[in-house]
Amino acid sequence: MLYAQIHLTLPAWVHEAVDSDRRYPGDASKVDLAIELSRHNIDARSGGPFGAAVFGPDDRIIAVGVNRVLPQSCSLAHAETMAVMLAQQRTQRARLNEPEPGVTAGPITLATSSQPCCQCYGAMFWAGIDRLLIGARSADVEALTEFDEGPLPADWVGELQRRGIEVERDLQRDQAGAVLRDYGQLGGPGY
Ligand SMILES: [Zn+2]
Repeated sequence: MLYAQIHLTLPAWVHEAVDSDRRYPGDASKVDLAIELSRHNIDARSGGPFGAAVFGPDDRIIAVGVNRVLPQSCSLAHAETMAVMLAQQRTQRARLNEPEPGVTAGPITLATSSQPCCQCYGAMFWAGIDRLLIGARSADVEALTEFDEGPLPADWVGELQRRGIEVERDLQRDQAGAVLRDYGQLGGPGY
């Protein structure tokens, strides 16, 4: 049989764990949410130790994401790509900050518990993100878990900034790293 659709879901716990009515002012509170999602995901064994969230100009959540690679048999289902895809479906915008060509609706912010891997880095260019907020570094991910984050351009931050995407790194880095460390010590995938 030829498959002609995909169906990806977040774990049911997101509805109880996330307060989608409140505002998340400032960078730290946005990354805090992404890290909380990463923690929930390993506690619930519903995917890898990564969380992300997309916020609108009013500091409210448009969508959240967690890693769903193993539960959904989908290597593309990283926290950042899940959050972006769900935000795009909710807003019906392929570029989140561009409701129609030539019209801007930013700033759109993506907060992620860990630095985007090579796949998610590429996705950032087309998603219509204005600001990228990052907790742990890829070096932390690779030191604390067995994940290989893949190759990035040497000046990956500059490549984003030259395309109008502001990058803030090392936000709540220790807290993000603590989740990675716990996941690594639990034994990694599936543990
Ligand atoms: Zn990724």
